[in-house]
Amino acid sequence: LCTISSGGLVAYSESQAEPGSGIPSEKKKKVLVLGTGWAGTSFLKDIDVSHYDVQVISPRNYFAFTPLLPSVTCGTVEARSIVEPVRKIIKKRDGEVQFCEAECVKIDAAGKRVYCQSNIENNLVGNKEFSLEYDYLVIAVGAQVNTFNTPGVQENCHFLKEIEDAQKIRGSVIDCFEKSVLPGLSEEERKTNLHFVIVGGGPTGVEFAAELHDYIHEDLVNLYPKAKDLVKITMIQSGDHILNTFDERISSFAENKFQRDGIEILTGRRVVNVSEKEVDMKIKSTGESCSIPHGIVLWSTGVGTRPVVKDFMEQIGQKNRRVLATDEWLKVKGCDNVYALGDCASVDQRKIMEDIATIFEAADKDKSGTLNVKEFQDVLDDIIIRYPQVKLYLKSMHMSDVTDLFKDPRGTDATEVDIEGFKSALSHVDSQMKSLPATAQVAAQQGAYLSRCFNRMEQCEQNPEGPRRFRSSGRHQFRPFCYKHFGQFAPLGGEQTAAELPGDWVSMGHSTQWLWYSVYASKQFYEKATGAFRDRSLLSKILIIGTVS
Ligand code: FAD
Ligand code: MG
Ligand code: MG
Ligand code: MG
Ligand code: MG
Repeated sequence: LCTISSGGLVAYSESQAEPGSGIPSEKKKKVLVLGTGWAGTSFLKDIDVSHYDVQVISPRNYFAFTPLLPSVTCGTVEARSIVEPVRKIIKKRDGEVQFCEAECVKIDAAGKRVYCQSNIENNLVGNKEFSLEYDYLVIAVGAQVNTFNTPGVQENCHFLKEIEDAQKIRGSVIDCFEKSVLPGLSEEERKTNLHFVIVGGGPTGVEFAAELHDYIHEDLVNLYPKAKDLVKITMIQSGDHILNTFDERISSFAENKFQRDGIEILTGRRVVNVSEKEVDMKIKSTGESCSIPHGIVLWSTGVGTRPVVKDFMEQIGQKNRRVLATDEWLKVKGCDNVYALGDCASVDQRKIMEDIATIFEAADKDKSGTLNVKEFQDVLDDIIIRYPQVKLYLKSMHMSDVTDLFKDPRGTDATEVDIEGFKSALSHVDSQMKSLPATAQVAAQQGAYLSRCFNRMEQCEQNPEGPRRFRSSGRHQFRPFCYKHFGQFAPLGGEQTAAELPGDWVSMGHSTQWLWYSVYASKQFYEKATGAFRDRSLLSKILIIGTVS
């Protein structure tokens, strides 16, 4: 456990390793993990504590299952059902992970040290600030709400990022209904109190609108019958469509569903100010200004950088970026022994064109100066591992056979290519590179990937991050991180859910709701967190689906 000395330094007692299991404790390297969200907990779940002294810092001593957060705002799901105590997750059979409830306020990469602040209020005796050393640092602090510095947003809007946010919204929605029935109000004033405005038409905003609509029309109008004709939900979106990261069919399905439900969607508008009573916006096409009165506003327009990450990026020469850049092994660029994953980071995928000459040389086994199809096929698997965009490119060109790459535009097959021919065959491959979305799916996969790498690091002591560039004989090394997309889901209320699944499969409607739960239920959550489900109805739902899938 940690003890806080007056100098602000923390000494950790060494965790005792069992005799014969792993490395003696004094030799163990210290791994410090920042954050207990999707990325952090999935890393912690599998990290081998017999090899590392693992310490975790997070201002929250629980993991929150964010996909169900919108359901907490309306009481469909209880907050306690979607949290899992960190101390439960980190309990291991063969050793222990240390946890401190505190916020990291500064990372000193040169000194391999982080500075922290405890956020526990009340009778905390001693210093609330301390620092910790590390051998390896894993940054998984996620992102924060992005207000784009819009005036009044911080003061007058709700956010939906944390459990507390969802609980606050729940209270405020009821307050709006209570206010609307107070005596002495004009019809207009009642309407204003019952006007729910959502800024941002991404998945979170859409899910909240759908939940709120169901909650109002299934429950609240029975309790507040006079409110029925006064209540209204409006969504403001700066782009032309809501859910614009989804397939077009899903986005228009959602728009039509909302229209039928009476949820107004204002597109092509940018909010410029939010006051206590009004939302001011600009119509993008005409530059005109307009305002609407509101009861409450939910601001959900995407994510921004946490201050501790911003400060760290400045130290390591990654200024003016929104997220930390890592290599494909999730190691922070320009910084040794520091890894970053989840919403606070993005993988800087290496372009194949940067390495094209090396690849050519390695593939040209007979040193003939040309590549034949066989030579190319022999290295293709390794190329695809190192440059996943190759696979996406072949798919986008509907090529099943790599030899198609060497087809001449005139239709004659080239049996040998020289370096120029090779370059031109692969010249469009890098256009298929996409940055990964800021989702739980990505964060959880990255956490699991990194713990696997750490657990095997001993085997690859010499080169923990794997090959820096293409190598045909890289089998003993780590593969770069490779994201597997399981699809995305948008619950739209009334038990309607739209889903986009791998392989261009789009599904909309009632049964899709079950699919949505099943993806999460069967993935990391199910085995680990069903214990936390004290909410019986949801538990049974998840269990049913867990068995089916
Ligand atoms: P987080 O999960 O945000 O975790 C960050 C952790 O770091 C937290 O424990 C936090 O307390 C801690 N922390 C913060 N600051 C510090 C600090 N200074 N020092 C130490 N620790 C710190 N994704 C999907 O794939 N599917 C969905 O359906 C989905 N629905 C969502 C619904 C909502 C309402 C929201 C808000 C998000 C949703 N997401 C969904 C996105 C998903 O939650 C994020 O992409 C995911 O949480 C990112 O994981 P992370 O570990 O990077 O960050
Ligand atoms: Mg995390
Ligand atoms: Mg989380
Ligand atoms: Mg990311
Ligand atoms: Mg050759």
